Amino acid sequence: MKKLFTIWRYYSLGYEQYHECMERIHKNNLYNLRVGNVLAIVLAALFSGFPLLVNHNIQEAAAYLVISLFSLLLFIIANRNIKLINQQKRLENKRKVCILIILFFINVVFFGIFTGVLMNRDNYTVTFMTLLVCSLFLFYSSPVFNLCLIASATAVFITFTVLLKEPGIYIVDIYNVIFSALISLFICWRITMLRLVSELNAWKMEEERNKYLDQSTIDELTKLRNRRDFEQTFQRYLTNYRTSDDYLCVAIADIDFFKHYNDFYGHPKGDDCLRAIGGALIRLNKTMGVYCARVGGEEFALLWFEKDASHVDAVISRVTKLIKTLKIPHEKSNINEFVTMSIGVYIERCGVSNNYEELYDLADKALYSAKGNGRNCAIVRGRNMSQYQIKPE
Ligand code: GH3
Ligand code: MG
Ligand code: MG
Repeated sequence: MKKLFTIWRYYSLGYEQYHECMERIHKNNLYNLRVGNVLAIVLAALFSGFPLLVNHNIQEAAAYLVISLFSLLLFIIANRNIKLINQQKRLENKRKVCILIILFFINVVFFGIFTGVLMNRDNYTVTFMTLLVCSLFLFYSSPVFNLCLIASATAVFITFTVLLKEPGIYIVDIYNVIFSALISLFICWRITMLRLVSELNAWKMEEERNKYLDQSTIDELTKLRNRRDFEQTFQRYLTNYRTSDDYLCVAIADIDFFKHYNDFYGHPKGDDCLRAIGGALIRLNKTMGVYCARVGGEEFALLWFEKDASHVDAVISRVTKLIKTLKIPHEKSNINEFVTMSIGVYIERCGVSNNYEELYDLADKALYSAKGNGRNCAIVRGRNMSQYQIKPE
């Protein structure tokens, strides 16, 4: 029994997935409900035309007009309140949907009672219930919520019928209403389920796609971005540069004497070293927002924006400090007892060049200079500025 209840409530999806999909569905619901509410208002206004044209009953026409104005007023108040609450604290889509659904049902029930009971038009009872069934196609909600809505709408309608109509007449109304309520309950359970399943499939496909995209842009060994992603990101940084006051900085960092390291410690140890450096660069990305990628065997590239060209040193010092604190022993290095890196940096004002190959080449030349200057240092270059060297502290 409990299992059956769970299947009915969460459509066998499980609580987590059900809520994840429902949140996405609610966004759609909001739009549909706003349109539905406007339609209900317009419909009530149009109904005022019938008494005028058919039996020239001005009073009845005026009553319909009052209903549509009343609905319009409620709609404006509800939307204003949603907006106001949203400004103070974020209102969940679920709650917004609830407000609009209740508003919609007030409109439908009010309209139904007016036409079916007060105006004593029996055929309108069926119209009202058809409207109730159709209106449930406007949104997708939980079975419990649907049950509450349909039951309360039915109860209100039956109460008014019993109070205001002759016995014998209202009994037909009650049959009609209960029958339509049961059908609508079943229909809304089914359509919400179908919608949920399609949403779940779309969600799963999106997850798969993201996983695939991540796999094709991530370097397996270091978990940094790979060369392919670097080239795309570089191009994007150049074309979507922020303001022409900003600088785009490109740095290429290369491990010193890594061939010696591999030859002495072996390839697997070399891989461990690359992994450790990858980890340090991931930390750099997290703390300073610098984009980091592994672009070659033991070569890494960094990209970031600076407001002031002199701030470049802070990032470079951080990189050298991170590598220094790793303290990876390197017996075969000609310059240090630990693994070190040489870095070439090129700074370009945003919007000046959009040729990433040229900028990469200029940073690579700076790296070459750093290697020539005894390694374990950074050479910073840029247009209209003299190059300088940064040594690790
Ligand atoms: P320099 O200081 O001038 O940069 O000298 P280097 O020895 O670091 O430079 P070189 O380009 O001669 O050697 C790079 C070495 O990096 C060669 C290769 O064995 C090693 N390497 C490249 N990719 C990998 C990898 O994925 N794993 C390991 N373990 N080693 C790699
Ligand atoms: Mg190299
Ligand atoms: Mg090297």
